[in-house]
Amino acid sequence: PFVEQLAVYEPGRPLEEVARAFGFADVSGLIKLASNENLLGPSPRALDAMRASAAKMHLYPDGGCHYLRQELAARLGVEPANLVFGAGSNEIIEFLGHVFLGPGTNIVMASQAFLVYRLVAAAFEAKVVDVPMRDHAHDLDAMLRAITPQTRLVFVANPNNPTGTMVDGAALHAFLDALPDHVLAVVDEAYIELVDPAAQPELISRVRAGRNIILLRPFSKAHGLAGLRIGYGIAPPGVVALLEKFRQPFNVCAMAQDAALAALADEEHLVRTRTLVRDGLAFFEEGFRRLGLDYVPSTANFILVKTGRGREVFQQLQRLGIIVRPVDAYGLPEYVRITTGTAAQNEACLRALEQVLAGAKP
Ligand SMILES: *Cc1c(COP(=O)(O)O)cnc(C)c1O
Repeated sequence: PFVEQLAVYEPGRPLEEVARAFGFADVSGLIKLASNENLLGPSPRALDAMRASAAKMHLYPDGGCHYLRQELAARLGVEPANLVFGAGSNEIIEFLGHVFLGPGTNIVMASQAFLVYRLVAAAFEAKVVDVPMRDHAHDLDAMLRAITPQTRLVFVANPNNPTGTMVDGAALHAFLDALPDHVLAVVDEAYIELVDPAAQPELISRVRAGRNIILLRPFSKAHGLAGLRIGYGIAPPGVVALLEKFRQPFNVCAMAQDAALAALADEEHLVRTRTLVRDGLAFFEEGFRRLGLDYVPSTANFILVKTGRGREVFQQLQRLGIIVRPVDAYGLPEYVRITTGTAAQNEACLRALEQVLAGAKP
């Protein structure tokens, strides 16, 4: 009975599924701006690495991700023992649940932060202490006040999904300094590489200093490898060692490791991605203002826009071949979340949105 009542995550639907459901001949007429993927695609270097990798797919991967670990450690200025790898950073959130959560414990999170934290807490029978957001951003003071002796993890998604808001470095450091010792701070930096490097809070020094913190980073977003499922955590060695207890020996696929290593070396692709996202956000903001729609200014590769009746708008857009994300599961029934795509995709999306909203008016 306990398992039966657990909620499941509603992901953005795969293109093929939407094509089948809406009678499109194939996926070519569809535009998916629903899952914050990198619409430039993977780096060409990562593609080459995947092709080379294909020929050795009869072999199990290196469960320790040796080469990727060495490279990342060097780039980040940490020790290899500071890194833990998962099949997506979501898997690391699950490791955190295994290690730290159970009946009688709780997590503290913002009420409109990434849903997976909530689902993992529920799976491990931990309570969720919800902290309302302020102007769609984490209210760090309120989160600090919400911590109890039973709190094991406090989650800060920075930038946050689905709101796209970010807390600034000084406020984050003050919050982390004030956390009691029995709480591990989980700073989910899924979109941090899309942020202008000068605006990225510097948190790795806290890992080096052995503070109670883990930073989570996927290769799914900025690096464009969502389909391969690979992400990592940066934490003090003691925390990494605990998480490793729950890691299956071959959790990260070999092709993902090779592609991630190649993607790291492609700075140019990352810069092009940042530019695409910045241009996309500017385009949507301008368009929303023209249509008289409220939106939440974003620092990531997606934007929340207030359309009214978000799920209906999502469904009508889908009929037009545009897939966005309803966010009613986040308590935002009046909004949809739109991922920034290429210029042509963004234009098609805005045109369709305008059409849907015009039709919806009495
Ligand atoms: C997309 C996303 C993730 C998941 O990343 P994977 O590495 O693909 O599992 C984690 N956190 C946030 C906030 C995200 O938006």
